Amino acid sequence: MTDPQVRQILAVHLPDLAALCAGCRAWWARLAPYPCHQAEWAARRQARAATRRFLDGLP
Ligand SMILES: [Zn+2]
Repeated sequence: MTDPQVRQILAVHLPDLAALCAGCRAWWARLAPYPCHQAEWAARRQARAATRRFLDGLP
C-alpha cells in the first residue's frame, strides 16, 4: 500500500450528514459509522508516515 492509495482512502472515506462513512456507502453499499475501519487505518498510517518524515528532517 503506497501513500497515494492512503490519501485516496482518506479522500473517499468521509463522514456524511448522518455521521456515516460516505465512502463505504458509495463503494460497498455498506452503512458504517465514521470513522470506519478504512479511515482509521489510513489516518494511522498517514500519521506514522508524517512522524517518520518529521523525525527524518530533524538535524
Ligand atoms: Zn469508509
